[in-house]
Amino acid sequence: MGKVTGFLEYPRKSPLKLPIADRVKNYREFELPPAEETLKEQGARCMDCGVPFCNTGCPLGNLIPDWNDHTYRGLAREAIDALHATNNFPEITGRVCPAPCEAACVLGINSDPVAIKLIERATADRAIEQGWIQPMPPASRSGKKVAVVGAGPAGLAAAQQLARAGHLVTVFDRDDRAGGLLTYGIPDFKMEKGLVDRRVEQMTQEGVTFKLGVDVGKDITGADLKRDFDAVLLTIGSRVPRDLPVPGRELDGIHFAMDFLTQQNRRVAGKEVYGAPILAEGKKVVVIGGGDTGSDCIGTSHRQGAVSVTNFEIMPKPPEQRAESTPWPLWPLMMRTSTSHEEGGERRFSVTTDRFIGKDGKVVALECSEVTIEGGKLVQVPGSEFTVEADLVLLAMGFVHPEKQGIVEQLGVELDARGNIKVDPKTFQTSVPGVFAAGDCQRGQSLVVWGIADGRKAARGIDMMLVGSSDLPLGNRADPRFVL
Ligand SMILES: Cc1cc2nc3c(=O)[nH]c(=O)nc-3n(C[C@H](O)[C@H](O)[C@H](O)COP(=O)(O)OP(=O)(O)OC[C@H]3O[C@@H](n4cnc5c(N)ncnc54)[C@H](O)[C@@H]3O)c2cc1C
Ligand code: SF4
Repeated sequence: MGKVTGFLEYPRKSPLKLPIADRVKNYREFELPPAEETLKEQGARCMDCGVPFCNTGCPLGNLIPDWNDHTYRGLAREAIDALHATNNFPEITGRVCPAPCEAACVLGINSDPVAIKLIERATADRAIEQGWIQPMPPASRSGKKVAVVGAGPAGLAAAQQLARAGHLVTVFDRDDRAGGLLTYGIPDFKMEKGLVDRRVEQMTQEGVTFKLGVDVGKDITGADLKRDFDAVLLTIGSRVPRDLPVPGRELDGIHFAMDFLTQQNRRVAGKEVYGAPILAEGKKVVVIGGGDTGSDCIGTSHRQGAVSVTNFEIMPKPPEQRAESTPWPLWPLMMRTSTSHEEGGERRFSVTTDRFIGKDGKVVALECSEVTIEGGKLVQVPGSEFTVEADLVLLAMGFVHPEKQGIVEQLGVELDARGNIKVDPKTFQTSVPGVFAAGDCQRGQSLVVWGIADGRKAARGIDMMLVGSSDLPLGNRADPRFVL
């Protein structure tokens, strides 16, 4: 273990950040790397518990106590090797993962949990600096061809695993850059995109072919894929946004969050922006939806120069501490304040939007009311109506399921009751033999870490089908749905 008395000697340290006034001037990342000594002390806090709950809290089953110990001892090379054993892209999860591992850390029962995510990021960043992230092409090729549709975290992780297992992998994506929501969704201030480009370069050198700007289902069909490949993996994400069909929805100035966020990521990348610009500069912005997407809209609005930013969430304000309904080691229901929330704006809970008010075809205000939960249902509080001015409204209320038209229809894969692609939980194979699915398109909108975990497990399922056995790792055995 790290240092036997480390958890008694050192307090938890979170990453230092640039001051808000500086960071909102641009779209760069703003967390500062920890000093070497701080990093070692944070590693020293790990108690190397007999049953490391952090390891089961992490969807990837990351070997956290191992790399905490290596970090304490200054063994950076061993730490990154232990990280890579279970995680293809630790520099990415080290930035954007909400760290369910920390919620499951034993030290967190009566103290602050180990700063696992900080250590993960620092370890991965060190490996990049040192040039330790090198291509790992397979010793031999199987001659089997796999098509991966969708270059988000699930598709990328699966493609890398399959290529390393010796298969010839082609990744298709309709976007002009790989990364899925990592590239065109999550803002640059949370994760700069060069990190994805570096991995794409690594994978290219490992033998993966990327075909970008290809809309599968239109530019090539399901029949083409089945003819040309031995296996097909769908990692198309869950991209159909939840709408708010109340009176006035058709007014100008009301947009889905993803249209707003994607435009800004394209601007930062110096790429052409499609459609009329959606900008918060000089506007009163209302963001509807209190999740990650809503938070990203808030941070982006601050950087674009919004006059005000108001965030509505329909659910009640969660408790400041872990709710009793989610005891340790579960992911806690509790109030979360993201770095974008820290930067300003007003957050209101238990609010529903009843209608949008317009003038000359443009939104000028929202008519809202408060809601409460009665008998498990949300009901309006009589007399609680209020109006809020707005000239830009961003709908960030989640995503319902993957797109059904196109490749999903063409391949004829069965969907579950929620409209996600149904898979065999052991193999990730769909109802159509030889066609697999992983990530948000079969799980519903989730997390990057789950996308990587699913991609890795689907790769194993495909490898087993193609060659009858697999040396690819099993993944986290604690996930009851997906144990092989
Ligand atoms: C704004 C936002 C912020 C988020 N922030 C976080 C965060 O901070 N931390 C976190 O863990 N998670 C976050 N998430 C969730 C996370 O991004 C997703 O769970 C994750 O990206 C899912 O990965 P995926 O590979 O399944 O799908 P996606 O990332 O959605 O990738 C799917 C890919 O498939 C492509 N595609 C779809 N259909 C076709 C087709 N027919 N032909 C070719 N290509 C196709 C798409 O272009 C896309 O590139 C966020 C989500 C959003 C929307
Ligand atoms: S990937 Fe996420 S859950 Fe897993 S160890 Fe890293 S921060 Fe924790």
